[in-house]
Amino acid sequence: MPSIFTQIINKEIPCYKIAENDRFIAFLDINPNAKGHTLCVPKQEINKIFDMPEKLYLDLMQFSKDIAIALEKTVPCKRIGMSVIGLEVAHVHVHLIPLQDMSQMTFQHKVSQSDPEFVALAQQIKNNLP
Ligand code: 5GP
Repeated sequence: MPSIFTQIINKEIPCYKIAENDRFIAFLDINPNAKGHTLCVPKQEINKIFDMPEKLYLDLMQFSKDIAIALEKTVPCKRIGMSVIGLEVAHVHVHLIPLQDMSQMTFQHKVSQSDPEFVALAQQIKNNLP
């Protein structure tokens, strides 16, 4: 069974997309820790980040950095936190989370956003990409 992120990549499930190229995609997390919480995902379905081939891993970091810089320009925050977990979805993804305080890195507190808010936010982040 393909992962939920592979289904998003294959456009079988919708997402609030921020960026995409031949190897990676970035979209808003559907259950965000903070406004702007973004996932950066390699299209190749690999379970664990440290099992990735070296170049793909490094290129994922570069892709995530570009998204993080656009995110920090878009969402008022002290900095962008980065986390890799994968206990819920076994397909590598980098969480980028605009932070005001440490509690936003705990995944215990969630913010709710409407569909139009997600759409507008994804577009604003996109507008700040290089
Ligand atoms: P993890 O696997 O790192 O523990 O967490 C998976 C993350 O993926 C969670 O933050 C969850 O909200 C997010 N997520 C799960 N399913 C979907 C989905 O269908 N769409 C989006 N955009 N995010 C999802």
